[in-house]
Amino acid sequence: MESQVSKANILNGKELSVAILEQLKPRAAAIAKLNNDNPPGLATVLVGEDPASHVYVRNKRRACEKVGLTNFHYELEGNTGQAKLLALIDELNCNIEVDGILVQLPLPKGFDYDENEVLAAIAPTKDADGFHPQNQGALMQGTEAPVPCTPKGVMRLLDESGMQGSGKHAVVVGRSNIVGKPVAMLLLAQNFTVTICHSRTADLALEVSRADVVVAAVGVAKLIKGEWLKQGAVVLDVGINRGDDGKLVGDVDFDSACARASYITPVPGGVGPMTIAMLLSNTVEAAEQRLGL
Ligand code: NDP
Repeated sequence: MESQVSKANILNGKELSVAILEQLKPRAAAIAKLNNDNPPGLATVLVGEDPASHVYVRNKRRACEKVGLTNFHYELEGNTGQAKLLALIDELNCNIEVDGILVQLPLPKGFDYDENEVLAAIAPTKDADGFHPQNQGALMQGTEAPVPCTPKGVMRLLDESGMQGSGKHAVVVGRSNIVGKPVAMLLLAQNFTVTICHSRTADLALEVSRADVVVAAVGVAKLIKGEWLKQGAVVLDVGINRGDDGKLVGDVDFDSACARASYITPVPGGVGPMTIAMLLSNTVEAAEQRLGL
């Protein structure tokens, strides 16, 4: 096999997220000082036994500890049911020590859970994940509101590349409510001309070849090939997939993409750690707003 010479600059989300978490520490401490020694609080709600969800929530809780946020953690049996879950959210909405609420998705299959109803039950001001319909509407309108964490992290990494939106074309592959659609709105707000691709797109390679910025949020290992990319494209890979060898890989074929991209995020160590940093950032911002800072 021909070996590719790596030319792209790596957008290191792991390092950047550490720096962002460091910057949050004094803000959390300042809030505690003003608030009877209570730092910002993040409630994490985990329902069921999904191993990946347990890992994600554990990492979020560890980050809270590092930054000095209080973590209120709830683990519910898979069969807890919608009514009890909604009652817990109601309780957290009323708890003044809780600034952010995160219900880890997906909720267990085979029970009566309605994820949309759960997300809509979270108080919009405590919506650390930015998934409440009111906050998604605010994103459409370009008004101030919590922004979903992964898209916010993607935009922060894009900032590092220095790429500006005016006159540039961004292609987002994937149209989910949690990644594809919000990231497309954020790119549009920064004056990119945006194309959203999905499973019914006729010629994905052609669409990607026109992009100055590619955001891949699909969930198919190495779907996007280096030879599809425009020379100098910025590539932001949201995908987390297990490769044949059991290792984590993105939606972009990293080795071939490095030969064409100007900047690229690795998997792991790219977008993933940024998601957690943005979750904590949303929680600290919510606490600052509550205190009028
Ligand atoms: P979804 O499954 O909700 O959405 C996937 C999207 O990809 C859909 O819009 C789907 O199209 C599209 N798609 C599927 N196959 C193709 C294809 N062959 N060609 C073009 N488009 C395709 O996934 P999510 O948005 O939730 O997540 C996407 C990836 O990002 C996953 O790997 C996930 O694990 C990862 N992820 C990573 C996070 C992080 O922190 N780094 C956070 C969240 C997600 P259609 O709508 O037509 O079905």
